[in-house]
Amino acid sequence: MNLILLGPPGAGKGTQAELIIERYNIPHISTGDIFRAAVKEGAPLGLKAKEYLDSGQLVPDEIVNGIVKERLQQADCGNGFLLDGFPRTIPQADALERCLAELNRKITAVINIEVDFEVLMTRLTGRRVCRNCGALYHIQNKVEKVPGVCDHCGGEIYQREDDFPETVEKRLQVYRNQTEPLIKYYQNKDLLFSFNGEEPILVVFQKICEVLEGKF
Ligand code: ADP
Ligand code: ADP
Ligand code: ZN
Repeated sequence: MNLILLGPPGAGKGTQAELIIERYNIPHISTGDIFRAAVKEGAPLGLKAKEYLDSGQLVPDEIVNGIVKERLQQADCGNGFLLDGFPRTIPQADALERCLAELNRKITAVINIEVDFEVLMTRLTGRRVCRNCGALYHIQNKVEKVPGVCDHCGGEIYQREDDFPETVEKRLQVYRNQTEPLIKYYQNKDLLFSFNGEEPILVVFQKICEVLEGKF
């Protein structure tokens, strides 16, 4: 199963990804997670990406495309993959298409999660993340058992700097201008399945599974 998760920042892509990869046993490829890990390690990629992440801008296509291409060739993608946060521009989608053609593979489905812009603001400013394993929390919607401590790994829970209100506005604008056109792009290819991301986490997940299982 070769899947793409599409949707604005805060729609619940990462949250659904945690559930989907467990159920279908495919790797989670989150370009945002890859960049944050590189920044944390002080790797050369991190040095290049940091200013874009901090300002809520997209990292240039050439950098992102190269990383994803390399990642898709790794052995664990043999059974499929779940792309989260990629593609985010039309040129990225075109590059992905070329890359998959070379690997003799096709996209199975694009899962588009829709959430009203006002709700996204609350989602993003209330989002908290485990610094160690990346697990997702929310100050109202998904609270950890012990304050500040990850339920899964005991790691420290923190707030991403790009989830501060000033940067959130910018990211939503970037989404509208650069990523939203992908909805039409995948609709035209008959690959798009849209879900109401304002429903509870497990309801959204169940509906995604119904569609995916209807396809096999
Ligand atoms: P994305 O990866 O699309 O940016 P996340 O999965 O990180 O979004 O979710 C953003 C925030 O919203 C997180 O704090 C998460 O816990 C919360 N969240 C995700 N899905 C839902 C939902 N269906 N209902 C309420 N809160 C949600
Ligand atoms: P969100 O949870 O808000 O959807 P991500 O974790 O996917 O955010 O991305 C965080 C940041 O990483 C983006 O604001 C951008 O700077 C960078 N990034 C992630 N994926 C891409 C991509 N496909 N193309 C360009 N930049 C990206
Ligand atoms: Zn953790």
